[in-house]
Amino acid sequence: MSTVEQNYQRIRERLNAACANASREPDSVRLLAVSKTKPASMVRTCYELGQRAFGENYLQDGLDKIEALSELTDIEWHFIGPLQSNKTRPVAEHFHWLETLDREKIARRLNEQRPDDLPPLNVLIQVNISNEEQKSGIATDSVTSFAQTLLSLPRLKVRGLMCIPEATSDEERLRDQFLKMHRLWQELKELCPDADTLSMGMSSDLELAIACGSTEVRIGTDIFGARDIPGAQ
Ligand SMILES: *Cc1c(COP(=O)(O)O)cnc(C)c1O
Repeated sequence: MSTVEQNYQRIRERLNAACANASREPDSVRLLAVSKTKPASMVRTCYELGQRAFGENYLQDGLDKIEALSELTDIEWHFIGPLQSNKTRPVAEHFHWLETLDREKIARRLNEQRPDDLPPLNVLIQVNISNEEQKSGIATDSVTSFAQTLLSLPRLKVRGLMCIPEATSDEERLRDQFLKMHRLWQELKELCPDADTLSMGMSSDLELAIACGSTEVRIGTDIFGARDIPGAQ
């Protein structure tokens, strides 16, 4: 058995156990396999194990894999990295989801650039839930007004919220941030009927995130192994 296969089975087991502990159905949480910096061959191995949703952070790296694996037509590509406004077109043309939307200018460009023969681009609003100054994401008290703006853009579909919480080992602080996200998401759902997704939880905290209501966890290293590209997050 390959390492990816063993890792993948282990993560699936962890997810199932976390769902059982939280009295949730296993299929209520999507696993996003974060394949950034990893080769297309590893994505294919994971696909053959049944995985369909993959996350990419770096535009060119992601586009190369989308191209290399274009015959896998039911694969779902999520862009989860920071996006500059002059780089929106390839995301609009080649990805199914953008999980890090936090600027109106970027939203308007994506809306204009999304090709007519594709369904609307699924977007998650990134929330700066830890309220750290240098961090990406919309402030918690601006989520509603930002969502209202997005609702006027027909080539985007607001699917929910995403966060990267504070890097802390203090479980109570993390829980507090995850629960705040869950409340914000409940509020958003009243405004946006398609907002079925709450993306939070990574390798180290997926159990806590699932207990707090996450519907998508983003896992890279624990499936594909450590990344060795200098500077890659
Ligand atoms: C890299 C990344 C992940 C996955 O991180 P790992 O530590 O490799 O599991 C999840 N979410 C985002 C936004 C990332 O950039």
